[in-house]
Amino acid sequence: MLKGRELTSFQRQLLEWFRQFQRDLLWRRTKDPYRIWLSEIMLQQTRVAAAIPYYERFLERFPDIEALAAAPEQEVLRLWSGLGYYSRVRNLHKAAQKIVAQGNGNFPETFEDILKLPGIGNYTAAAISSMAFGAEHAVLDGNVARVLARLYAVRGDLRTPRRWQELQETADACLDAKSPGEWNQAMMELDATLCTPNAPQCLLCPVNEFCKGRKLGIAELLPEKRKKRATVEVTLASAVFADKNGWTLLLPPPEGTNEGSLADYVPVLVSNLWHFPTVSVNGDPAAKLRAHLRKLYPAAGNRQLRLTAAGVVRHAVTYRAITIKPFHIRVKNLPRIKGAERVPLHEVSVLPVSNLTRKVARAVFAAANADTMSRGE
Ligand code: SF4
Repeated sequence: MLKGRELTSFQRQLLEWFRQFQRDLLWRRTKDPYRIWLSEIMLQQTRVAAAIPYYERFLERFPDIEALAAAPEQEVLRLWSGLGYYSRVRNLHKAAQKIVAQGNGNFPETFEDILKLPGIGNYTAAAISSMAFGAEHAVLDGNVARVLARLYAVRGDLRTPRRWQELQETADACLDAKSPGEWNQAMMELDATLCTPNAPQCLLCPVNEFCKGRKLGIAELLPEKRKKRATVEVTLASAVFADKNGWTLLLPPPEGTNEGSLADYVPVLVSNLWHFPTVSVNGDPAAKLRAHLRKLYPAAGNRQLRLTAAGVVRHAVTYRAITIKPFHIRVKNLPRIKGAERVPLHEVSVLPVSNLTRKVARAVFAAANADTMSRGE
């Protein structure tokens, strides 16, 4: 562990580098806890460049906590649509409502109080409390852990509870108590720009002289790989209705269902958002989808729907590799299915939908266009 003068030099060198070379990011120009919180939640699982337009649109529509708390969930989800991991925004919305109901819209100021909000763990509470309120809490996520593992040549699985606790203690010991918010951002900047997962740029690193992993020549090998969860293959079939005006049907987010609760249905894979009628299959996809549609749409009786295969879509959600077989179903009039919404097929995003649903819509479009061209229409 770095101590005394060595620690002071380490802190000074990292902070000086950060002050000189940091990227100009929108959320670094503010001390508003709401804006910092939003950026931290968006940046979980999302790259900076991808998050920026969402961040701007979200703040334009919800400039403060009150506006977010008062909005209907469907609208909040729609503005998040495409970013994925929708539990993040559901919790954000719930937390905003809690802050307005319990604190008159005043954001809690201590690490402990921030931690009580839905969807906020140690990392986010440390980031908000240090950056907005100057609290002395060091951030620790997988990226900061990678930097610490290299700096201190820590081997083995970093995610065991004991190792993680030790890394948190190391992060706390490194924290510059005079500028905790800036320090945390400097660590994040280092992990994002130089001490990256592959090929860390040690020659440019402002703290390379303190790095044990580099001295031992093992920096690139750290952190050591964890055992990966085996990939599970899932096959789904989706029904994309289209009437003569190009309108389609989307089903509402399934309520009160979770993974495994319905053998025939896969709400978790459509991120509990609006979606095309979808079913998991392990045989003839068209037959299984037909049977599923008959359950959803008993009024159709024995009328045979004409299902046209529209290629194959691939999608990955954590450890699942999903293959989706979309079917285009041209109908004169869209069927009446309880709770379903009618939307133009080329605008499925007017409702909050997942990337999987977008890909299915695109595949059907592409197949329909190819079909039209081959017929010379
Ligand atoms: Fe990371 Fe290299 Fe800097 Fe060590 S010297 S902290 S491995 S970038």
